[in-house]
Amino acid sequence: MSRSGSLVNFSLWVNAFLVCFVLILALPKAEAWSKEGHVMTCRIAQALLEPHAAEVVRNLLPDYANGDLSALCTWPDQIRHWYRYQWSGSLHFIDTPDKACTYDYSRDCHDSHGLKGMCVAGAIHNYTTQLSNYKHGSSDRRHNMTEALLFLSHFMGDIHQPLHVGFTSDEGGNTIDLRWFKHKSNLHHVWDREIILTAASELYGKDIDLLQKDIQKNITHGTWSDDTSLWKDCDDLFSCPNKYAAESISLACKWGYKGVSQGATLSDKYFHSRMPIVTKRIAQGGVRLSMILNRVLGNHNQEIHVPA
Ligand SMILES: [Zn+2]
Repeated sequence: MSRSGSLVNFSLWVNAFLVCFVLILALPKAEAWSKEGHVMTCRIAQALLEPHAAEVVRNLLPDYANGDLSALCTWPDQIRHWYRYQWSGSLHFIDTPDKACTYDYSRDCHDSHGLKGMCVAGAIHNYTTQLSNYKHGSSDRRHNMTEALLFLSHFMGDIHQPLHVGFTSDEGGNTIDLRWFKHKSNLHHVWDREIILTAASELYGKDIDLLQKDIQKNITHGTWSDDTSLWKDCDDLFSCPNKYAAESISLACKWGYKGVSQGATLSDKYFHSRMPIVTKRIAQGGVRLSMILNRVLGNHNQEIHVPA
């Protein structure tokens, strides 16, 4: 083989590698709020941080994020297919028994091998504990605090997406193929992204920032302003994720799966009745993420019981 032939072969291999790499990065994010949902959740949370917690968050972010937590809130979705982070795949969701419409930590929070705690509620518990150690000044060298912040921020979004706590056999609606207006989609994706994009496009002139500002306005002095203290209510930081998961499967049954069958076409009626649920869950995710970060990274004297 000639030298130039080797070079051609080498460049083909490089190209093939790059194509594979791009394909891996572009794998469908089948089990996550869309980028938009996570960005909104994190922006809402960061705006509600108290000064000390806000400073700690800024210090934990890498320089290239420019102090913007939302810039890295989708990072756990980007790395979940990397070999090094494959263990994190089951941390984005919870599978519950078909039609049960309930969630039970000891029954449902495990990965496909049955390993306990390997679900989104267990992950929130774990990363809350790690960040608590940061506040207590013990430089916890076992854990990467930046990763803990990003995982916690992402999973607080995921646990509020109702179909992230869905039925086992349909993988949280992923295997329920349907049409969203005129294009092909699936029920999980409708809740991850389609409703958000349709809302932005139909009601906010395709400007997702306006949708987010509307959600924020309803938190501070609108529809939900009287509800936020109830949303934040949490006696035991480590068991509250179970409450959020139970809310999600309940909403998944009442609004997600209700009236939807394989091959259905969902359009205006479904969109208009479900959009308020999606925006409220994004608001709750953001408000509660700020509550957790203020408590574990803030400088008020509240002691946090850290389970062994
Ligand atoms: Zn996710």
